[in-house]
Amino acid sequence: METNRSSIAENLARVRQRIARACEEAGRSPEHVTLLAVSKTCPAGDVAAALAAGQHAFGENYVQEALDKIHALAAERPRLQWHLIGPLQSNKTRVVAEAFDWVHSVDRLKIAQRLSEQRPAGLPPLNVCLQVNVSGEASKSGVSFDELPGLAQAVAGLPGLRLRGLMAIPEPATEAEAQRAPHRRLRQALEALRPVLAPTGAPLDTLSMGMSADLEAAITEGATLVRVGTAVFGERPRRAG
Ligand SMILES: *Cc1c(COP(=O)(O)O)cnc(C)c1O
Repeated sequence: METNRSSIAENLARVRQRIARACEEAGRSPEHVTLLAVSKTCPAGDVAAALAAGQHAFGENYVQEALDKIHALAAERPRLQWHLIGPLQSNKTRVVAEAFDWVHSVDRLKIAQRLSEQRPAGLPPLNVCLQVNVSGEASKSGVSFDELPGLAQAVAGLPGLRLRGLMAIPEPATEAEAQRAPHRRLRQALEALRPVLAPTGAPLDTLSMGMSADLEAAITEGATLVRVGTAVFGERPRRAG
């Protein structure tokens, strides 16, 4: 897959087609599924090419790399939405609270509190999702299903944040039901939170799940935002760590 301007536009068209077809098969409206183009490791020029092809929401994993791109594309800032989808250390919360529109990877109250305190007063509250560990291995980030309600309750009360929903990165799977099961558990977890958190007014309108390989399974299970990198920008160079 090439990563020049026209191939990014073609890739985006193909991904939008996949989303439309999956929505049709699931009896859902494609308006209810946002495409987040995951631009990690891509140069700012690739983001500009995607923007020219009508893509406005971008996901980044590495804070410093993202800040460089946000800076390089400062003139386009009003048309861009920047989402942090990678792990966040507490020493980076201030720059993230200042520069991003969304953070999908909140899995600890301490990080959420810092983001809330450090969100500049002139900006709208930072949109956050809680990252849930749906595959259950100790090595992966994400809050457990058991600890999710308590964390959600606490985060919903933070004034600098809007709790939009849940995010997950399931273990890769090839078989359809194996792809769907973790996405279904995430949807059920969000549905269970809604009545509990209703008094807080948290929107809880977002299920951030599905990537290049499994976006159809995620949409079938109710994804409202799919995070797609490879299918938009091509294969990434391998990165250590
Ligand atoms: C890299 C990444 C993606 C995109 O993955 P692809 O398989 O390239 O579509 C989505 N979500 C997260 C959290 C990622 O780190």
